Amino acid sequence: MLEQRIAAVLEQHRPQLAELVHQAVDRELQALVAAELQRCNGTTPSAIRNGTRARPSGQPDTRLCRTCGQAKPRDGFEAGRAVCRGCRRAQHRERQRHHKEATAAPFPGAASPSSPAGIPATLSST
Ligand SMILES: [Zn+2]
Repeated sequence: MLEQRIAAVLEQHRPQLAELVHQAVDRELQALVAAELQRCNGTTPSAIRNGTRARPSGQPDTRLCRTCGQAKPRDGFEAGRAVCRGCRRAQHRERQRHHKEATAAPFPGAASPSSPAGIPATLSST
């Protein structure tokens, strides 16, 4: 009963609610961006020198991934790499899987890597 009434009221006011949500999200986003900019300006000027401020204006801060061919944000790549982190992780996982299949683990958990971030140097050839 109550749920039906709530649903009916919600339906009646859906446009206003949607607008309210939109405004609230907008405000939050703007606040977040402002806070982030302030944080960067205040505490990490080097990050701005290395990042946004270094590139010429109007040029998107992206580069093409050699594996998936998609333009990804520059921070989606490791320095000097032409393959995005997502693809490298996928490649890494694929190799782990093949490796696991080739050499059956003697006991559960033995072959699972403790740190997913630790990508072996053998991947650098790709
Ligand atoms: Zn990629």
